[in-house]
Amino acid sequence: MAVINSIADSHEEFAAIRHELHQNPQTKYEETYAADLVKKTLKSWGIPFKDNIAVTGIVATIEGQKNDSGKAIALRADMDALDIHEKSNVPHSSKIPGKMHACGHDGHTTTLLAAAKYLKDTRNFNGTVHLIFQPAEEGGRGADRMIEEGLFKDFPCDAVYGLHNWPDMPVGTIATRPGPLLASVGEFDITITGKGGHAAMPHLTADPMIAATSIVTALQTIVSRNVNPIDTAVISVTNLNVGTGAFNIIADTAHINGTVRTFDNNVRDMIARRMEEVVQGIAQACGMRAEMIYTHDNDATINSDDGVAMAATAAADIVGSENVDTDCPPSMGGEDFGAYLKEKSGAFIFVGQAKPNDKNSPHNHGLHSPFYDFNNDIIPIGASLFARIVERSLPLEK
Ligand SMILES: [Zn+2]
Ligand SMILES: [Zn+2]
Repeated sequence: MAVINSIADSHEEFAAIRHELHQNPQTKYEETYAADLVKKTLKSWGIPFKDNIAVTGIVATIEGQKNDSGKAIALRADMDALDIHEKSNVPHSSKIPGKMHACGHDGHTTTLLAAAKYLKDTRNFNGTVHLIFQPAEEGGRGADRMIEEGLFKDFPCDAVYGLHNWPDMPVGTIATRPGPLLASVGEFDITITGKGGHAAMPHLTADPMIAATSIVTALQTIVSRNVNPIDTAVISVTNLNVGTGAFNIIADTAHINGTVRTFDNNVRDMIARRMEEVVQGIAQACGMRAEMIYTHDNDATINSDDGVAMAATAAADIVGSENVDTDCPPSMGGEDFGAYLKEKSGAFIFVGQAKPNDKNSPHNHGLHSPFYDFNNDIIPIGASLFARIVERSLPLEK
């Protein structure tokens, strides 16, 4: 078996939907264009749904030909875009300056619609399928909010699956792994308050530059000295702002921010505690005040073993087992799908989208690049993968 024929036959219809979504990107909790298009499309196919979950989120439900298994599978797509000004120059480029579907969520939404159409037309399963169209994956914890607003109470399910296009892998390949696949994401924002003054008279000031640079260096010792070498963690300081640009003024305050990535919640909590100790200790030693705000964004995405086994079997149906990697390296990138996998078994799956023979292809650019474009060729692959996961998880014949 390869890509499901009836899905492949609708390729142009879905490419048009994807381009329309791409031209009309909206960011977290403002995805009304995508939500309206999803609802209009579901309605035209007679698929019932509930909307306004987590502001713009939608859950559609399809019953199988039989429904005596008592089982349900959830499939998820994200709908939000990013604050990026598109430079891809593709004909369907963003019409909204400063907003862009640079992570391919336009493609994920279309892929789930393509799966929905096939599943509704064939209903070749015994049980229930819930289709989750989620807002605010990018820094808005949309998955968490869907769950907080009753997703799994209102739409109970046994397992949940999601996919992400992956520009590091060629079209026709699929990868995932049991256990941690993507990292948890934390953000920190540190303000150091000293006492500014004339640069020629430092003894009359409390120079926050000294505290800030010491803190940046000392934060790097947390991963090397406090994290178990067997565990994985990243602390990246990405901004250090001190001073106005004048060469003869010592500033009053310094700002530091950045991100923390881990796969293990105990490591994550230890890092947050050590960061606070390092920041306060150094600020105190320098005679200054410091305040650190640490925000926990996403949980790590940790696949269940049975979810990966199911995803791998379904993926082999579509692209052949030789093109399925079930032990790909984890990525320190973040994704809020981990919130679902904290509650349910299942898997998050990478679907290759690169065209290695076309060096100038926008599909080869990395996620969040202004030159990136989702590859329509993988809509039938992803949709077939979703459909096969359902048909294998909820077989009509025992
Ligand atoms: Zn992204
Ligand atoms: Zn994404």
